[in-house]
Amino acid sequence: MSQYFDPAEALARPELAKLQAARLKTTVERCLAAPFYKKALAQAKIGPGDIHTVDDIRRLPFTTKDDLRANYPYGFLALPKEKFVRLHASSGTTGTPTAVFYTKNDLDAWADLMARSMFAVGVRPSDVLQNMSGYGLFTGGLGIHYGSERLGCLTIPAGAGNTKRQIKLIRDFGVTVVHIIPSYALYFATKLAAEGIKATDMPWRIALIGAEPHTEEVRRRIEELLHLKAYNSFGLSEMNGPGVAFECEYQNGMHLWEDAYVAEIIDPNTLEPVAEGEIGELVMTTLTREGMPLIRYRTRDLTRFLPGDCPCGRTSRRIDRIAGRADDMIIIKGVNIYPMQIEQVLMSMPEVGQNYVIELFTDGVMDNLRVKVEIKDEYFEEDMRALTGLQKRVSARLRDEILITPKVELIQHGSIPKAEGKAQRVVDLRGAE
Ligand code: ADP
Ligand code: ZN
Repeated sequence: MSQYFDPAEALARPELAKLQAARLKTTVERCLAAPFYKKALAQAKIGPGDIHTVDDIRRLPFTTKDDLRANYPYGFLALPKEKFVRLHASSGTTGTPTAVFYTKNDLDAWADLMARSMFAVGVRPSDVLQNMSGYGLFTGGLGIHYGSERLGCLTIPAGAGNTKRQIKLIRDFGVTVVHIIPSYALYFATKLAAEGIKATDMPWRIALIGAEPHTEEVRRRIEELLHLKAYNSFGLSEMNGPGVAFECEYQNGMHLWEDAYVAEIIDPNTLEPVAEGEIGELVMTTLTREGMPLIRYRTRDLTRFLPGDCPCGRTSRRIDRIAGRADDMIIIKGVNIYPMQIEQVLMSMPEVGQNYVIELFTDGVMDNLRVKVEIKDEYFEEDMRALTGLQKRVSARLRDEILITPKVELIQHGSIPKAEGKAQRVVDLRGAE
């Protein structure tokens, strides 16, 4: 096998546990040099000498996004500043951004994880990879870029936007792999169609999609519309960026690279581990990072471990696609709703186009939901009666899923402005209307 199948991916579980324990101990040692952890570990009265097995992780304190913000910018550095060669920042989707710093070794280890992730879905050195995510502070730019170069692919740093130019690059250079945010991939499909280009005439065969929550329905649409295989890619800047968990060719959940991270899934209220296979908050610890190790970082992302072995032979556990962020939960009329539940319904209806937005508004004194959904042109041209019927059907299907009846507005495709970067699925208009 190639060097991009790391033997660590297929370790027997007891061997992996040993490796994790040793690396966890080293991580705690390193943390003693970081101002935040020096204090936190002293308070918790725990040190590297207390770590014997990986389960001892449960004795360590959690780290939250607020801790990162409160100790911005240098409070988490475990090495002198001159050792660092790069910084990234989270996209700030949910508030003030946080900064993450990398040493040369950290960048090296990250590129390896990325190369390994791409190899797992069949990317090979002979591939030409076009990275269509924004470069700059966002980790989806340079993270994917260096991973792709590490694997040996000809790498095109196209960046985000400018769909026409993207199409030209893909055709001119015979691009076989694209890295693209799922909401942009759907938009891209409508642009291709508008240009009169058939997806079957495109040279690509693989899309790496990630960076934002999306449903299985969206993946299927992307695969059909673009005529390629789309693989889910998960990461977050606090854990380097992409390359934390990645699907393999079997598309049955994302292998989480357990030789580089310890993952726990907890109940966000009790902070205890959830029962086997239940959904909870993903908590992550870095095992190989030297410059800015993080212990038990509460990601706010909701997922679960998937049961069973993967036919690919990798033994690292798989997580389910992210159900959403804890912060994304909408509470309307006492009911908890996640945007992905809405997406799942919409994207399973053939009349529905490639974009939608959920608005929260005040209806008299009550909060309510409005779902604006783009309809494919051929349906939009139907008469009023047909459209009203469709609107009722969308509304009823949503009701079955989310248990309240939202207002549904059918709109023409292309009427929702395309966000640069991650799609904003929920707009809160309460108090604004
Ligand atoms: P921000 O939190 O500001 O968006 P990042 O750019 O670091 O900053 O994004 C990381 C977050 O993006 C993750 O915590 C998760 O919520 C989301 N994310 C990344 N990849 C995926 C994916 N494949 N599926 C769902 N959500 C994802
Ligand atoms: Zn697998």
